[in-house]
Amino acid sequence: MRVARIAIVGMGPRGLTVLERLVANHRTQKFGPVHIDIFDPNPPGTGCHDPDQAGHLLVNTVSGQITQFSDSTVLNAGPVLKGPSFHEWLTAEDARNGTGEHSNPDGYYSRAAFGRYLHWCYHYLVALAPANCKITCFRDEVLSMDRVDESWVLRTAKGSVWADFVVLTTGHTKAAARRAPPTSVGTLVIDDPYPIREQIACVSPGMTVGIEGLGLTTMDVIAELTVGRGGRFHVDASGRRHYTASGREPHLVAYSRSGLPLTARARNQKGVSTQYRARFLKLDVVRAMRAQRKLDFANDILPLLWADMQYAYYEAYARLKRDTLLSVLLLNQLVATDSSAQRDEMVRQYIPPEDRFDWATLYDPIPAQALRSGPAFDAWLRQHIEGDLAEATKGNVDSPVKAACDVVRDLRDNLRAAIDFGGLTEQSHRWLMAEFVPFMNRIAVGPPASRMAELLALVDAGIAEIGFGPAAHCVKSTQGRWKIVSAHWPERRKPVDVHVKARVSMHSPADDASPLLRGLLSDGFARLFANGEFHPGGIEVDRNFNVVSGAGAPIANLWALGIPTEGPKFYTFVVPRTGVNSTALVDAGRVVLDLLGHIGRRQTHAPVERDDAPVPTTEYASAFASMYATL
Ligand SMILES: Cc1cc2nc3c(=O)[nH]c(=O)nc-3n(C[C@H](O)[C@H](O)[C@H](O)COP(=O)(O)OP(=O)(O)OC[C@H]3O[C@@H](n4cnc5c(N)ncnc54)[C@H](O)[C@@H]3O)c2cc1C
Repeated sequence: MRVARIAIVGMGPRGLTVLERLVANHRTQKFGPVHIDIFDPNPPGTGCHDPDQAGHLLVNTVSGQITQFSDSTVLNAGPVLKGPSFHEWLTAEDARNGTGEHSNPDGYYSRAAFGRYLHWCYHYLVALAPANCKITCFRDEVLSMDRVDESWVLRTAKGSVWADFVVLTTGHTKAAARRAPPTSVGTLVIDDPYPIREQIACVSPGMTVGIEGLGLTTMDVIAELTVGRGGRFHVDASGRRHYTASGREPHLVAYSRSGLPLTARARNQKGVSTQYRARFLKLDVVRAMRAQRKLDFANDILPLLWADMQYAYYEAYARLKRDTLLSVLLLNQLVATDSSAQRDEMVRQYIPPEDRFDWATLYDPIPAQALRSGPAFDAWLRQHIEGDLAEATKGNVDSPVKAACDVVRDLRDNLRAAIDFGGLTEQSHRWLMAEFVPFMNRIAVGPPASRMAELLALVDAGIAEIGFGPAAHCVKSTQGRWKIVSAHWPERRKPVDVHVKARVSMHSPADDASPLLRGLLSDGFARLFANGEFHPGGIEVDRNFNVVSGAGAPIANLWALGIPTEGPKFYTFVVPRTGVNSTALVDAGRVVLDLLGHIGRRQTHAPVERDDAPVPTTEYASAFASMYATL
């Protein structure tokens, strides 16, 4: 029987989900022989999570909620293959090493450890692959793809490999170098801070570093320039964090459009897989609306999401007050309402004004008096962060406001049902990306609380400044030196020696540094996704994740998953969560079942043995199988 050849381009967490589904299906012995060629210059499995990066760079998801394996909640994705979650793997590693440093499933551990887990998962899958599923790993970048008859020829710097089927899981690629004039005179501008250690190695003590953004990447940059430079945090008897400088830190000045840092992740009280269950933004409600028309996120979706957030807030509030009657009366009546006016009326009836959940404050928490002066803003910001930390300590079930904000995370699939594959009107899609996504990131996708406590300690120690207020920006002086300038207080301006743009690039595939995506576009094997005139990013895929050609036809033997499809899909940059029918696993299952369906049909009708094409130097992954043969 002819051996079908499958290529997976990019073996990060997404590529692993595809490999996991292929191995799981092949272990049932229902499928004919396949040869899987994997391409990735990085250690297979790790993707952007380098196992050798510094230990102070943290995963911002608790270890118990991360897995690379499917389970019985994952729908329509094929058989379950048992494998450890990140936390289970860490615990086993601790036991082997005789340590207990990763014992908490609600702990945030290093991305280096996560990279090691992902690399282990890869070898585990290779070891479990049955004899009719051969795996070869090329530690090379695929530079281009071409079509010969129905097959693909993938070219690397070392040679070519042909494949019947290709899955693109290329993840976080770099943007093509900007054609801006060199900025070595005056301020040094760092467009992309990853890999952190190498990119900001040029920063010396005594320099002032401007950091654009107050998000997760900023937390990485700050950790590297403080703890990474030998500084230490410690917690005093009252629980307050302090920073002892090493003297090798620069001075840090962080600012952002909103002037606000992300809010801290609340202590996890939901275990591994408990999630808030939608009462308003239900999947069937969203699907019914979508069947009629394109949606307007602000009018159709946001009121339902807000209603669910209110529900979670008042559920926690009533529990906190130990008021079962309030809980029964208010919550039962809330679910029976069908308009926000009715819900507001209900809340007015039962909840005193000072305890009400207020959308306007959540969206724009800075009061007018905080903007009167720089010191007034500093005082307010500290209080704001300390208040947020107090709520984070209560937890994502017991703190009303954190319970409400966690709804956005728990109902992300319901949001996806509205947004994916051009579900919104063009105007609404633009609004979503410009307004809602930054807001969602601020309230629901923040760093571990320890990071925010550390930020305050760095402000106290005079190492960091974060009080530039909303709409602060960076301007270039005539000497080529950049200054961070407050939009509210003219006296707040700070010249910087280095300016770091602290965000992960979400550029269009048309601007990708790698020739692969640009080549697929120019050769007509792919086209940019557009919702009307709006290109939010990504290449177009259909609902089976088949790449859509320049001519508009889905290509039956080419699929793309994850970040290259961020545009037709929403929020693709998360790793699978245990026990919640995780989208990444469902999507991989869909691709693999479709692919195996093709193979089944081909192997029945065309049992032709075909010689291997010449291949570049390989690392034959199956060699690792023996290492784990007992698993
Ligand atoms: C710095 C950083 C920190 C993050 N932290 C978290 C976190 O804490 N929690 C979380 O849930 N998510 C986090 N993410 C989001 C991230 O998207 C996911 O964790 C996950 O890595 C996505 O997996 P992926 O396989 O799609 O992409 P990646 O991890 O980027 O992997 C893609 C792989 O494809 C390879 N590749 C690309 N092009 C080619 C080519 N032409 N040929 C061959 N190989 C190619 C790359 O070398 C890479 O190994 C983080 C992202 C970044 C950038």
